[in-house]
Amino acid sequence: MTRTSKSVCLECLNVIDCQMILRENKVFLCKHCVDHGSFETPVYSDANDYLDVLSNRPGSKPPTLPKACFEGLSP
Ligand SMILES: [Zn+2]
Repeated sequence: MTRTSKSVCLECLNVIDCQMILRENKVFLCKHCVDHGSFETPVYSDANDYLDVLSNRPGSKPPTLPKACFEGLSP
């Protein structure tokens, strides 16, 4: 299972492609920078936590944002 996204290189801070990969029941964020190579960051120590996040459909569990977030959007 992979899921491509965007992230930044920790070395040069360029925007690079990254992939969420599932391995040994852990979830890693796999990044690849053309200048600095590949590196992995563990995201979830238990893959089930990640799968729970993915399965949360909008509507079944709406995100709750602090009121300040909405106030910031108003002109
Ligand atoms: Zn880099």
